[in-house]
Amino acid sequence: MSEIFKLSAAELAEKMVAGEVSSVEATQAHLDRIAATDGEALEAGNRAAGKSGLNAFLHVNTEEALSEARSVDEARAAGEQLPALAGVPIAIKDLIVTKGQPTTAASRMLEGWMSPYDGTVIEKVRAARMPILGKTNLDEFAMGSTTEHSAFGPTRNPWALDRIPGGSGGGSAAAVAGFQAPLALGTDTGGSIRQPAAVTGSVGVKPTYGSISRYGVIAMASSLDQVGPCTRTVLDAALLHEAIAGHDPKDSTSLNTPVGPYVEQARAGAAEGGLKGLRVGVIKELHQTSEGFTPGVCNRFNESLKYLEAAGAELIEVSLPTVEEAIAAYYLIMSSEVSSNLAKYDGVRFGLRVLPEEGPMTIERVMAATRAAGFGAEAKRRIILGTYALSAGYYDAYYGSAQKVRTLIQRDYAAAFEKCDVLVSPTAPTTAFKIGSTDESSDPMAMYKGDIATVPVNLAGVPALSLPAGLAEEDGLPVGIQFTAPAHEDARLYRVGAGLEAALNQAWGGPIWKNMPDTESLIRDFDFGGVK
Ligand code: GLN
Repeated sequence: MSEIFKLSAAELAEKMVAGEVSSVEATQAHLDRIAATDGEALEAGNRAAGKSGLNAFLHVNTEEALSEARSVDEARAAGEQLPALAGVPIAIKDLIVTKGQPTTAASRMLEGWMSPYDGTVIEKVRAARMPILGKTNLDEFAMGSTTEHSAFGPTRNPWALDRIPGGSGGGSAAAVAGFQAPLALGTDTGGSIRQPAAVTGSVGVKPTYGSISRYGVIAMASSLDQVGPCTRTVLDAALLHEAIAGHDPKDSTSLNTPVGPYVEQARAGAAEGGLKGLRVGVIKELHQTSEGFTPGVCNRFNESLKYLEAAGAELIEVSLPTVEEAIAAYYLIMSSEVSSNLAKYDGVRFGLRVLPEEGPMTIERVMAATRAAGFGAEAKRRIILGTYALSAGYYDAYYGSAQKVRTLIQRDYAAAFEKCDVLVSPTAPTTAFKIGSTDESSDPMAMYKGDIATVPVNLAGVPALSLPAGLAEEDGLPVGIQFTAPAHEDARLYRVGAGLEAALNQAWGGPIWKNMPDTESLIRDFDFGGVK
């Protein structure tokens, strides 16, 4: 079969059960695709010509992936009862620790580090019998919206190689959108699963805070971090979500709540009349050009609202009055937690150690030399901001005030959910911007502002899903639409997401990626200018 890598995870799983495709074939097809389209793994000829591809992967796990695929095929041949996604390969954001593979958080601080254990979500992926293709690129320690802040070079958007794939999980999103993996895991602290999904035309879900274990997930901001699925279809996200969710005694923030029924709701939503009676709250503050949402984003958003109505949903206007303060509150709370979580990279306990070039060899000087060399500019900026916000004398004015705003935002959501079942807004105010346009030499605030629709969700701890809403007329690049549900009601996201996806696919005559340029030709024709 040609182009096995274009099949969704659900289709692959079905074909494996039917004996039409083996896990070895599927895994090999994705490894070949990675070799044809990705950075370090890129085939020799292209590499020699200075081409670097998407750079979605930091590590490709060829041998282990194929050996797991072989063992799944053998188990199936022996008639063993296997989990739903058995044999379907997956990529993992390099913020999640995996035994036997490097975990770097895209930082020099952890370069070359091998975890002695698996994170709980990796144990679950292994128990689900999914071959792990490798580890994907990200902004250093998940801080950023572009993947340009990786210590190992930017990831490129498969829709246009001069564009960012979003961040921090740009590697997972580009891998999925670029057909290098049918599924990937991401982490979302302020949008790092959803915004990359939006700008790469894929699907991303941030589950309810605490509903998926974070044991073995390198911490960015612990009151906000959450693991979730990156996929090309809503059904695939539901399948993966069911495989990784559940209570974990090893994570003190883990909740003991029921898992699912995500797959069932995705199927129900996609069926005829699947959205009948669903009350969808349109967030007044989050879809106006006056608020920085581009015309292309607003147009695709408004069109999607019409499709939702046509599918039986009832639209209600709702307001989140404090949402405008969300970015300020998020960047204070997140940076404060970052400054605390990253304090352990001190040149003594973890990772890199750099000795001062001259002068006395005190612990403070070793720490300073290590942190100066090990962290990139964005990590340093946030550590400094967070340390300042937490310092005596400023704590109440900054961190304390931000926590109060957080409470107000949570109340806004609670009030809105009294009137509707889910909320809707665009996922991001713009499509993918050009690589280099928001780096530190220009304006980090421009990057932070792009998080306006995603960070309130993390501050409130509620779940949200982003899916493609079409292409913007200005640049032909994907636009994302985001649904938000009350805490523990993740299943509603799958119903409404699958309902809209079905309506849009029907209108477009197929999935959005039918319009995506051929990645291999893009790479052949693109001038990488020697930059990775
Ligand atoms: N863009 C956000 C930030 O820069 C989100 C990061 C994340 O979710 N990990 O903080």
